[in-house]
Amino acid sequence: MMLKPRYLFDPRKKSPAFRDALVAWFEEKGKDYPWRRTRDPYAVLVSEIMLQQTRLGVVLGKGYFDRFMIRFPEVTVLADADESELLRVWEGLGYYRRARMLQAAARMIVDRHDGIFPKDEAALLALPGLGKYTVGALMSFAFDLPSPIVDGNVMRVLSRIFNDPTPIDSSPGIKNSWHLAGELLDQKRPRLFNSALMELGQQICKVGVPDCQSCPVAQFCKAKEPERLPVKDKKTTITEVAESVVFVINERGEILLAPEQGTRRIGLWRLPEIADDVRSDYHFLAESKYAITRYRVTLRVYRPPGVPRLRGGECWFHRDEAESLPMAAPYRKILRQLFD
Ligand code: SF4
Repeated sequence: MMLKPRYLFDPRKKSPAFRDALVAWFEEKGKDYPWRRTRDPYAVLVSEIMLQQTRLGVVLGKGYFDRFMIRFPEVTVLADADESELLRVWEGLGYYRRARMLQAAARMIVDRHDGIFPKDEAALLALPGLGKYTVGALMSFAFDLPSPIVDGNVMRVLSRIFNDPTPIDSSPGIKNSWHLAGELLDQKRPRLFNSALMELGQQICKVGVPDCQSCPVAQFCKAKEPERLPVKDKKTTITEVAESVVFVINERGEILLAPEQGTRRIGLWRLPEIADDVRSDYHFLAESKYAITRYRVTLRVYRPPGVPRLRGGECWFHRDEAESLPMAAPYRKILRQLFD
């Protein structure tokens, strides 16, 4: 049975005690991530951008952060990098727009700030792709300056602590979360405090049923039915879609690839797409599934009866060349499967 919090004190009125309890717990139980060992704003920025839409276990467990930092160890190196190589290193993380924005921010830091990150909220907000959350993360994690941060974890914790049913994805809910995060922020230890608040949401005050029994701030928490919080307005509906592509190898052993269309994956390559009503003389080769935003995609690969004529931008590549081209992970995976 879940133990409910035992509310005794308003954290705003007893803020030093609230901060001490949270920070003491974090110092003992906080996880050790590579970006928590550094004060380098560039490393903090890279980690925050990666973690925006990719789970921590993927960024860390699959070595994306370490690989990126080895290949692009400094902001100047990233600013100078070839976009195709950047996208290749980003491959598997998805949402490639993030990689381009990161490079655009790096270029602006080099051009406008001589390669030195400004310690100023307004100047950081002016960088491409940086919003309030990322700026707060840079200010507090890299510079230990007092700036609040609000992400999904922090919103959940705050809505429970204050037993607030305002939907966290509504304008008043978002505004209120930022206001509370600013009020509670430890001005003397912003780096530790913000890390602790996020970690509380990851480890203890989790999605679904929180572990109130182990919570270091249970005596400050008003939640009556924490498992029912936070409230959200919008429900995410998943749409099933099908995608048909061709796998063609010519007489020279080269494979046919097409440049991605649209802005989301611009600069990447893919297996050429065909209409869904696949002709009966196409031979089915393989199928896999992947998810992107609110879509669950069934990817089917066919071999056409002959070698098709090239359409806009399509090219033949040797296998080694194809390996070095940036390509979204679902195509890379199925391509390797077909070659093996
Ligand atoms: S785990 Fe969450 S809901 Fe439970 S006492 Fe702590 S802050 Fe409140």
